[in-house]
Amino acid sequence: SAMMVSKLLLAFAFCRLMATVGLNMGPAVELSRLGIDGLLTMDPSAVETASIDFGLMTRNPPLAVLHPASADDIARLVRAAVATPEEYGGFKVSARGHGHSINGQAQTGNGVVIEMSSGVGSIDGGRDFPPPPIVSEKEMFVDVWGGELWIDVLKSTLRYGLAPRSWTDYLYLSVGGTLSNGGISGQAFNHGPQISNVLELDVVTGNGELTTCSNEENPDLFHGVLGGLGQFGIITRARIVLERAPQRVRWIRVLYSNFTAFTRDQERLISLHAKPKNEKFDYVEGFVIVDEGLINNWRSSFFSPANPVKISSLKADGGVLYCLEITKNYHESQSLTVDQEVEALLKELDYIPESVFTTDLGYVDFLDRVHTAELKLQSKGLWDVPHPWLNLFVPKSRIADFDRGVFKGILGNNTSGPILIYPMNKHKWDPRSSAVTPEDDVFYLVALLRSAIDNGEETQSLEYLSNQNHQIIAFCSNEGIEVKQYLPHYTMEEEWAEHFGDKWPEFQRRKMKFDPHHILATGQRIFSPSK
Ligand code: FAD
Repeated sequence: SAMMVSKLLLAFAFCRLMATVGLNMGPAVELSRLGIDGLLTMDPSAVETASIDFGLMTRNPPLAVLHPASADDIARLVRAAVATPEEYGGFKVSARGHGHSINGQAQTGNGVVIEMSSGVGSIDGGRDFPPPPIVSEKEMFVDVWGGELWIDVLKSTLRYGLAPRSWTDYLYLSVGGTLSNGGISGQAFNHGPQISNVLELDVVTGNGELTTCSNEENPDLFHGVLGGLGQFGIITRARIVLERAPQRVRWIRVLYSNFTAFTRDQERLISLHAKPKNEKFDYVEGFVIVDEGLINNWRSSFFSPANPVKISSLKADGGVLYCLEITKNYHESQSLTVDQEVEALLKELDYIPESVFTTDLGYVDFLDRVHTAELKLQSKGLWDVPHPWLNLFVPKSRIADFDRGVFKGILGNNTSGPILIYPMNKHKWDPRSSAVTPEDDVFYLVALLRSAIDNGEETQSLEYLSNQNHQIIAFCSNEGIEVKQYLPHYTMEEEWAEHFGDKWPEFQRRKMKFDPHHILATGQRIFSPSK
């Protein structure tokens, strides 16, 4: 093993040298002699891909990129990192799912990025690696590779008439990536976030051990990894809870000019979580309309030309409108009763009467709705732009103050992208996980999903939008609104300690236990180098 390490050091010294002098070593460095079956490559396009993310605000080229050929490959690479002393240059290891982070969380400038999602997607053609999803119809779960994209999880389970219960709005994200954060959408009020819908994981820890964990087996690792920002291990397999997949979705949007009425209704709808299926909606979200730029909004395809919205004709409160978005899932055989169920639920709500917009579509078309918008934006060159996104969990007790200060204050009438707002039930989040949520029983996600565009308009610029984000955070802090960032981004240890609050000592303890050398996911910038 000493020889293996020295060979590895040699290989890495060589890689580092080449990287330093900027030479292209050709397509791949094979580490098969060191027991790694996958490809460790310095191919410029692979390195370039791994050096950026969806945020397009930070660029950090790794020394090399690994396309793994097994979970063991990942364990071998991490063990090599453990065995490479800092004085020989050391190196870090970062798993990268689909690179849809905003602030370089999957990047490392001093190590190897593992492309977890390379090779996924071809489930129809059959494949050896990554292993295709395996569905247990009897036990209603699916085992998937950690780099699997949710869209492919869906396709594979639908063959059995089954589907996961808890989603993200967008499906081109990896299972390991969303489980490292939370994974939320309009189903979270009911089923909890995606991290509440996992039965078991295989994880390569920062000690290079491939470990199976669950509620019963190695629970400390299991709960730590869920929402753990990649700090304790790399998820190579996840066992995800399934339900019978609905066939169709009734998708409804209604408008409010009064914020109190809007949030009262949202909170009422999520309080129905324990009711029988026919007495609640399956999905509750909402968004804020601060200007008439709805047309430019990438989630606006809903308001079709045949169904135009004249916002100016609806009396907006302080110029701001709120849209409640709800769905009802159903099977084709239930198409009659669904009308009655929806009707009964809508009757209780206090929206602007003439503002009901309804669509009916297939389940996959609904779940994959953001991809449709992505394709449109891509065709206009508006997808690959910087995204200074800000996601906050706001306690229910302060959401009205947030509305006054931010939606009706700081934002002016400048959207630059959709602003989502919807409540969730805290008790659906397992307190043992690493994810952090505010104190209140109910808290809101407020997602400012904005794009910076270089069109000469100051208010669309990256600098302007980033400044606004700082103002929003400062506003909350000055007003004592105890928000928690979702997909958090901090650079100083004190800020992380504050973010994790009561959970910080445990988070640190788990780091000491599962990644004592601080090898994993350094792009999160939580722990400084260990040596
Ligand atoms: P990456 O960005 O590649 O990685 C994220 C972090 O996880 C990194 O620190 C990385 O090192 C670590 N990581 C990656 N894979 C693994 C693994 N297998 N094991 C351990 N750690 C790993 N989030 C929601 O909750 N709901 C939404 O509706 C939603 N919609 C989105 C829509 C878009 C268009 C975008 C860009 C993002 C959205 N997100 C949403 C956020 C998304 O869940 C996170 O950005 C997530 O981290 C992205 O997943 P990824 O697979 O690209 O991960």
